[in-house]
Amino acid sequence: MIFDMVTVGNMMTNCYLVADENTNEGIVIDPGGEPEKILDMVGRAGVKIKYIVLTHGHYDHCGALEEVKRKTGCNTVVMNRLDEAMLEDPGSNLSLLLVGQEVSQKADKYVEGGDIISIGGIDITIRNTPGHTPGSISLIFDGKCICGDALFAGSVGRTDFPGGSPDALKSTIDSVFKKLPDEMEVWPGHGPSTNIGRERRRNPFMK
Ligand SMILES: [Zn+2]
Repeated sequence: MIFDMVTVGNMMTNCYLVADENTNEGIVIDPGGEPEKILDMVGRAGVKIKYIVLTHGHYDHCGALEEVKRKTGCNTVVMNRLDEAMLEDPGSNLSLLLVGQEVSQKADKYVEGGDIISIGGIDITIRNTPGHTPGSISLIFDGKCICGDALFAGSVGRTDFPGGSPDALKSTIDSVFKKLPDEMEVWPGHGPSTNIGRERRRNPFMK
């Protein structure tokens, strides 16, 4: 398996590449900005991008979407339907706030908790992890959890943007993250990676 990450844009968003080196198929997760960095990462891996997956609809996770679509030839943007209105609306996707531009984008394929995205021989399980936004999803595969802005090392995502809900985030933590094994790696949308055991011990939101 190929697993790589670049940090992009003003908000230092982590953009991930997961690919199967046997079939040369991959996915890009959260192309937040600086498309040239993302395209470099894809080019180094030498894989064909099957899907671009968005953990949620905020602009700092999809600011390079159009260019990455165009340059990779991948036309399938995957997300939870509950965040698509946000992706389309420049107010709630924060593009007006973050870059002062009205950016409206669309998804092509919807996933929700329990769905599996197959990339060559890699099965990626989708979990619904709402709270930061209604349609936030996490991707679980090979001992790793890519969790967008739901869980961070030592903290959790903000819930004060449109559609955010502290109650939903609390129930996500209780019903999803607390139930994952200690050794599972956590790869958030911003900041360093961690694992569930470490967060169980030191993250106040995981108590
Ligand atoms: Zn966000």
